[in-house]
Amino acid sequence: MKKLIVQKYGGTSVANPEMIKNVARRIVAYRDKGFELVVVVSAPGDTTDELIELAHQITPYPQEREMDMLLSTGEQISCALLAMAIQKLGYKAISFTGLQVGILTDSTHTKARIINIDTRRIIEELNKGNIVIVAGFQGVSQNQDITTLGRGGSDLSAVALAKVLGAKLCEIYTDVEGIYTTDPRIVPEARKLKKISYDEMLEMASLGAQVMQARSIELAKKFDIPIYVRSAFNNRRGTYIVKEEKKMLEGPVISAVTLSRNEAKLTICDVPDRPGIAANLFTEIASGGINVDMIVQNVSHTGRTDISFTVLKPDLRKTLKITKKVAREIDAGEVIYDEDIARVSIVGVGMKSHPGVASLMFSALARHKINIEMISTSEISISCVIRKKFVEEAVRALHEAFKLGKK
Ligand code: ASP
Ligand code: MG
Repeated sequence: MKKLIVQKYGGTSVANPEMIKNVARRIVAYRDKGFELVVVVSAPGDTTDELIELAHQITPYPQEREMDMLLSTGEQISCALLAMAIQKLGYKAISFTGLQVGILTDSTHTKARIINIDTRRIIEELNKGNIVIVAGFQGVSQNQDITTLGRGGSDLSAVALAKVLGAKLCEIYTDVEGIYTTDPRIVPEARKLKKISYDEMLEMASLGAQVMQARSIELAKKFDIPIYVRSAFNNRRGTYIVKEEKKMLEGPVISAVTLSRNEAKLTICDVPDRPGIAANLFTEIASGGINVDMIVQNVSHTGRTDISFTVLKPDLRKTLKITKKVAREIDAGEVIYDEDIARVSIVGVGMKSHPGVASLMFSALARHKINIEMISTSEISISCVIRKKFVEEAVRALHEAFKLGKK
């Protein structure tokens, strides 16, 4: 087989016919260089959000199987139009849904896992000289029901296809030029990174950076598939996401500062301080399908303590309901919540080999008189919960304290 690349184009790069034609021109330029291409596309623009909105105009609780039927149509539009646009330029192209190319998943509707991809049809079409366009974000379950792979799931489709087709690179074309040291809208001096490790990218994705779907990075890491994130609108260099290199450990202490405004804090007051209480609470929350993030338990002086934790904002109402119920059962006090929080985090594999990172972070926030309400750490990140109104100031302070800006 000739050199094969898998490219994925995000929703903003195929938002309208002009943009689809632009993407088609980029694709055939690669073709002219002798590449074989499998191209994954997202739904045009905000189509997925609009479809969700449409469903909610029918019912607040649509069945997930039907949601998948509905949402998968978005990607079907862009893949057909892109094939037409390429054909119009005089090249051979053919578009497929997930079902047609045998992207087999489990039947967890709206967040299905890929089990297997049957590459026969794709390879057959490549051999006929076609550029193969695949609708992202979708697959089919064993009983032939259409499934989707979770929001942002076209990234996962692309990485999985790169894996099964043995592509050397998976290119992600999007509306940003790559991965930055922080959000350039907040810090104009933010730098585009040349390279970042899978683990750092994963951490950034779970800490609020929205460039790529976290699951797709996990998959890329598992099979060591290099990802190249770059702009669909220009030819500037982007950022490679690759296996951790020794150089990265010795390099800068941290790679990026991230922020998230999408969390809420809950506190149960006056929790009896005895074994089994936390287990009880967090088991109930977990069985509600809710991911708890940070947890802080205060020291108890009186045999009672406060437990605070954070969840994603969309999960707040459900979590409140469960927490209030548990609070009654365990004879705790009131349950309060707070949506005016934000999280700032620093991320970097360099942390593993540099001491004093936490103190540098806390001092930078202290200099700006920003109070830290909760702290959590992982091997390669430190996060602080602060008041939401200070989040941009905090990001700027940390970006500067760790000297991440342009030299
Ligand atoms: N269209 C889907 C979404 O918006 C999948 C994707 O864009 O990757 O979540
Ligand atoms: Mg999208």
